[in-house]
Amino acid sequence: MRIYNSLTRQIEEFVPIKPPAVGMYACGPTVYSYVHIGNFRTYTTADVLVRLLKANGYEVSYVMNITDVGHLTGDNLGDADTGEDRMEKAASKAGKTAWEIADFYTRQFLMDFDRLNLLRPREFCRATDHIPEQIALIQRLEANGFTYKTSDGIYFDTAKFPRYGEMSTLTQIQEGARVEVNREKRNPRDFALWKFSPTDAKRQMEWDSPWGVGFPGWHIECSAMSMKYLGESFDIHAGGEDLRSTHHPNEIAQAEAATRKQFVKYWVHSAFLLVDGGRMSKSLGNNYTLSDLVQKGFSPMALRYLYFMGHYRGQINFTWSGLASAQTAYDKLVEFVRQARSKGDSARVALSAEKMKKADDYRKRFAAAMNEDLGTPQALAIVWETLKSNIPDYDKLDLLLDWDQILGLRLSEAGAGITVPEEVRSLAGEREKLRLGGKFVEADSVRMQLEKMGWEVRDTVGGPQLKPKIQDSGFKIQDSK
Ligand code: AMP
Ligand code: ZN
Repeated sequence: MRIYNSLTRQIEEFVPIKPPAVGMYACGPTVYSYVHIGNFRTYTTADVLVRLLKANGYEVSYVMNITDVGHLTGDNLGDADTGEDRMEKAASKAGKTAWEIADFYTRQFLMDFDRLNLLRPREFCRATDHIPEQIALIQRLEANGFTYKTSDGIYFDTAKFPRYGEMSTLTQIQEGARVEVNREKRNPRDFALWKFSPTDAKRQMEWDSPWGVGFPGWHIECSAMSMKYLGESFDIHAGGEDLRSTHHPNEIAQAEAATRKQFVKYWVHSAFLLVDGGRMSKSLGNNYTLSDLVQKGFSPMALRYLYFMGHYRGQINFTWSGLASAQTAYDKLVEFVRQARSKGDSARVALSAEKMKKADDYRKRFAAAMNEDLGTPQALAIVWETLKSNIPDYDKLDLLLDWDQILGLRLSEAGAGITVPEEVRSLAGEREKLRLGGKFVEADSVRMQLEKMGWEVRDTVGGPQLKPKIQDSGFKIQDSK
């Protein structure tokens, strides 16, 4: 498979460091407010990449962070080291603690994450759970001579890291755009690793450190946590396009100045989702959440479909009429699955050589489209071409359900009217009790029992979900070459 790498600025053959293992990290949300459908475009791109890697036979270790401290408001103005802490600001506005704010928005985020059928990473790591790791990384940088101290914190000295910003699309960070110029910085591109708590006020989130009480800079968490879970060099790092110019170059500088090794091989950036042609913003009231869409009667899968209509590296524009078209297309897919399923196994007929070749051709073309830098628009076009073709419905269904392992549109659940037998439901309830009680081994054996009975359980925030097990078709996507 091939993927665009922001580091080399070209589409490259994907060659993992230690195949079949693939380590992948995606920058997650700052949980000071609802995560909007723009953010979810970025997470959906990461999700499709994970699914595609798996279909290609890789064993993916996927990690995503949750930023719950140290992301300052100044970064909208080009300087992430100034302004107020987003968490503390949101907390004082809501009359809650910063911890309560983080907890509330993390839960909301996870709920929408599941509703969009995004595969849960192996780790969701919180910045506040990894303060010692961040301090240890700053100490390594200090020992290697990359830091200096100002009156408000410890900074990274970018002049000492000659390759700083090689991936950035900015030639220079524009100092003129800043809220206030920090005169103590040696270079405008330098950034905070550790910020000191103000002397005249007590922060809610602060920790002791070798440099004094304070909190980590926004960038250090991602370098520290990704290396903790994936090693000092790993394969893929993903995020939105805005992170390409500052946050990610800072992550590279922090990691490589400490380890003196290449941090990440492939950098994958997803373009923004615009709303009515412009940026999403709270003041315009157009930073829609998934719930806003659901309240208007749209399904989360329609949004997922809408994302796929555009290539991930091009900006897409969200409009309500666009979403309505995506919903219509999605409903047609679901209806097809429902009808094809209702015909049952008896509808399966032997394929003529010509039709078999045709089905095989669709399969190859879908794989080729996805394997060429996640070509979702082309892949969707092939889906429709397949459905309109003259191959039997049963074979169309086979292809569609295989492809849905990558598209993740929950088509296999479109069996409509599936009734779960009472004994299956109560067994699943028992398993849930075991799981919540920490008895994972016992819970797993109940899961296996359910599987033998032909039912798969998926754990969601809303409780266990049951679906009939589909026979594993042994689906493996072929490389396009
Ligand atoms: P934040 O919570 O602002 O740190 O953003 C979380 C993730 O969403 C980052 O990877 C951002 O690059 C990404 N992101 C933010 N706004 C958008 C948008 N409008 N469209 C797509 N991705 C976005
Ligand atoms: Zn990050």
